[in-house]
This record gives sequence, C-alpha cells and structure tokens, in this order.
Amino acid sequence: MDRQRENLSELISDDLLTQCIHCGICLSVCPTYDITKLERSSPRGRIRLIKAFANNEISLGKLFEDEMSFCLGCRACETACPAGVQYENLHQKTKHILNKGRKFSVQKIALKYFLNKILTSSAKLKSFSRMLFYYQKSWLRKFLHSTSLLKNIFSKLFLMDELSPQISDVASDELIDEISLPENEQKYNVAFHVGCIMNVAFAEINIDTIEVLKKSGCKIYTPINQNCCGALHAHNGELNTAKGLAKSNIDLFEKFGYEYLISNSAGCGAFMKEYVELFNEDKRYTEKAEKFSSKVKDISEFITENDINLKYKRTDERVTYHDACHLVHGQGVFKQPREIINSLPGISYNELNDSTRCCGSAGIYNILRQEDSMLFLDQKMENIIDTNADIVLTGNPGCLLQLRYGVKKYNKNINIKHIVSFVNSTTKNEKKN
Ligand code: SF4
Ligand code: SF4
Repeated sequence: MDRQRENLSELISDDLLTQCIHCGICLSVCPTYDITKLERSSPRGRIRLIKAFANNEISLGKLFEDEMSFCLGCRACETACPAGVQYENLHQKTKHILNKGRKFSVQKIALKYFLNKILTSSAKLKSFSRMLFYYQKSWLRKFLHSTSLLKNIFSKLFLMDELSPQISDVASDELIDEISLPENEQKYNVAFHVGCIMNVAFAEINIDTIEVLKKSGCKIYTPINQNCCGALHAHNGELNTAKGLAKSNIDLFEKFGYEYLISNSAGCGAFMKEYVELFNEDKRYTEKAEKFSSKVKDISEFITENDINLKYKRTDERVTYHDACHLVHGQGVFKQPREIINSLPGISYNELNDSTRCCGSAGIYNILRQEDSMLFLDQKMENIIDTNADIVLTGNPGCLLQLRYGVKKYNKNINIKHIVSFVNSTTKNEKKN
C-alpha cells in the first residue's frame, strides 16, 4: 500500500492534484454523477479520493477501486472545468497504480493479456481476428444464438459477443498502398494511421478515408508495420505499454515527410495528440512527441480547416450526429462534423439532445461494466429515437459498435455510420477523364 502511495506521488505532481477549486461545475455534465447523485461518483469527488489517498488519509479499498472503474473516462468534466483540471491524466495514472498492486480476476487477466500481448503486435492481432472471423461465420455462433443458450446461461459473454466488431474479410493495410496518389492536382502531403481495431474490423472505413483524402488532393503515406496508438492501454492503466507503442509510432512516422497525420478514430486521435504527456521523464522523446502530435488531425478537422472542395451529390436523408467523447472533449472537435453535414445538399439535420454525452462504449467499459454501460446506452437511444433520424453519424469505432447494438436492442431501422463513409458515399469522384 505504501509502495503504491509512493508510486502515485512519483507519477502525479502536486500541481495536478491541487488544480481543482471545488466549484462543482463539472457535476452537471458527469454521466456517473447523474445516475448516482453521489459526490464520490463525480469528477470532484474522485479527485478528492485520489488526493486523500496521496495524503495518507485513506487506504485503497473496494470503494476507491470501484469509483475509478465506474468513471467512463469520457472527459466531459474537462470541457466543463473552468480551472483546466487535467482529469484524464490524473485518472489514467491512478488506474496505472491500481493495476500494479491489484489481485486480478480471470476477466482482468484475459484483458491484460489481450492488451499487452495481442494488441501490441499487428501480426498477432491479425491471427486473433482471423479466429474471431471464422467463429463469427460459423454454425456454432448461429447455433448458440438461435437456441438462446449463450444468452440465458452466460449473459455477459453473450453481450460481449453482440458488442464485438464484425471482423473484415481483409485487413485494410493489405488493401491500401503505402503511397496513394490524389485523384487530381496534389495539394497536401498527409500520412494515415490505420489503427488496430480499425484495421482489422473497420477496413471499409479506412478505405473510405483514403478515398476522401484522394478526392481532397492528398498524397497519402500509409506506412506498413504501424502499431496501435496505445490509447486503450493508457485508459486501462497500462502506461508502460502505451509508452512503448507511442515510441514505435513516433519513430516510424518520422521517416516520412508529411504535413498532417490523419486519424479517423476519436480515441486514437485524442491520444496521439497528447503523446507528450507520456514522456515527461524521457527528454529524448519529448521534442519528437511534440512534433508528432502537432500534426495529428481528425479527418473532419482536415476537411473543414483546409482548402478542400469536395463535390457533393444531393442526398435526401434525415441525419443526426453523436459526438464521440474523445473527439468533442478530448480534441475540442464539435463544429467541424456539423459543418460538413450541413454543407451536404438536400440533407435534413436534426441536432441530437445531449449529443456530447457518452454512449457508454468508452473504450472497453461496455465489456468491463456491462450493466452501467447499458444505462448510458439507453439514455442515448431515447434521444436518438426522438430525432426521427434515419442515419446517425459519428467518428469513433467504439461508438459505432455501441450504437449499432442499441439499434438492435430497440429494434429500430436506423443506420449507424462513420461520418467519413457518409462523406465518401455522397461525394463524386474527382478524376478527370
Ligand atoms: S471522465 Fe466522465 S465519467 Fe469520469 S468523472 Fe469526468 S465526466 Fe464523470
Ligand atoms: S469543474 Fe473543475 S475545478 Fe470545478 S469541481 Fe470540477 S474538476 Fe474541480
């Protein structure tokens, strides 16, 4: 316990611990406080708990651990906070300390193995996803689902199965050239981060991103042997692994000359923009990380903040937009996707009530805390249904999976799409014949 306290003091500076001025403004935006109305489930309450532990006033126990894992890591509190509290930074470091001294359950050992041994290697992730792919196509899955066997006896496993991404036939990095050329005149040099789960389970979205970039006049570098960005590791307290992955990405991408590093995954983009936070103690990488992060752009930022003139086709769809937490709260990207959607001719756009509130996906929160996650999903689905939209657009793979599950749960005929896929399907090819 004392060792954990020392570790916490080494990792978390007094400045970070004393930023909170206890104003309580964050309480109204915190989804977990909204549900419990307990101070300890609020950002302010959690900061107090961390501080009390650091100051030797309380010991680590079930309540402390539970409050840290109950937090979605959605960062809505950071957007609301007038004092600039770096809540995510504090929360990630606390989870890292908790992981070090904790007795693990079977579920947590499996998660640790997946994060540290599978997700860290593109080859291993591909082998793992191939197994999942064959299972998803197999008679076994059909049988388990048709008999409700899995659902009734192993309800948590059943939900995990339902929330798992459908593995793509081929990983996107096997379909995308290392260098892709623009359809017409070249205006920009960009690099593209394919992601880990995006690469094996959302290959079509990565292809759509490349298509949109080509239509936007980009020469695109998509280096082979890219690594996972490390966001999932950091969110689950595996900071050393996250740092290793960040280093390998920084070293790989610096070999290419580019102006922007494009991401289509909110969680990856937010984390890559903050790589420098990982290297406070490692001065060799501080400068490199700053340079790397300064070039990271979400695809919707890139489209709206540059001289991009996409030729849109008319589309008479009723659309709404769900803000992924790590796009709106992690990167401050709010107006850009709306600007894109509202520039589409014929579109009917309805703003989603509480659009910036977490859908409950939150990385792997929906696997680790299924019941809580479903409460947040239910709130989100009620708001989505109220918009009467046929299509919900968003910018993060986790939200796509969670909302697709929500649509199934509520038996609604609503299409959940990544905004870049929608943009690609509504733009004409630029190529001059
Ligand atoms: S990250 Fe989200 S859930 Fe956690 S304290 Fe902040 S607002 Fe609440
Ligand atoms: S808004 Fe910021 S300063 Fe105010 S209580 Fe919340 S975390 Fe503390």
